[in-house]
Amino acid sequence: MKNLVIFGAPGSGKGTQSDLLVKRYGFKHISTGDVLRGEIKNGTELGKTAKNYIDNGQLIPDSLMIDILASTYDSLCPCDGVIFDGFPRTIPQAEALKKMLADRNTEVSAMLELDVPKEELISRLINRGKTSGRADDNEETIQKRLTVYKNQTSPLIDWYTSEGICHSVKGIGSLEEIEAALCKVIDEL
Ligand code: AMP
Repeated sequence: MKNLVIFGAPGSGKGTQSDLLVKRYGFKHISTGDVLRGEIKNGTELGKTAKNYIDNGQLIPDSLMIDILASTYDSLCPCDGVIFDGFPRTIPQAEALKKMLADRNTEVSAMLELDVPKEELISRLINRGKTSGRADDNEETIQKRLTVYKNQTSPLIDWYTSEGICHSVKGIGSLEEIEAALCKVIDEL
């Protein structure tokens, strides 16, 4: 079984590439952003709490996210593989993921980083905002999310590098080129 973390800033193409990898390999996909938006849509208590953070471009507290992640994972497994998209976003989340998988006799097989320049991220997210209907795809919140990424999430690149499983892939070019670069890493695992 493969556990893959697809990693990158907001707008780096994690969701798009996850969909392609799901089609190709039959993996399950856990997008914590999608899980939270589902909770908001259903008007749950969790959704109400999450909405304030999401609309402000801030991260939901780790303790809450870790519980959601474990129950989502258990609802999908056993399976051939899982793609974690949007999780982990902090070092405590990465440590919790490592422990959660170890408790289930498995581990993260690879962290796949999509590397995209900041200007490109901003223009992609502004464009996405025209059709996504996402309250957080506006210029002010985009800037906040990119700052949160830089301060809280990007240190995970060093963290996974020290685990020996960080693979960086150029996240610009055609969808097919980016997918091929990811597949090359996955097929060599
Ligand atoms: P995304 O769809 O991955 O861009 O996530 C949208 C928003 O959901 C983020 O800006 C956060 O507010 C929240 N979120 C998603 N995943 C996480 C996570 N792993 N930890 C904390 N907050 C998260």
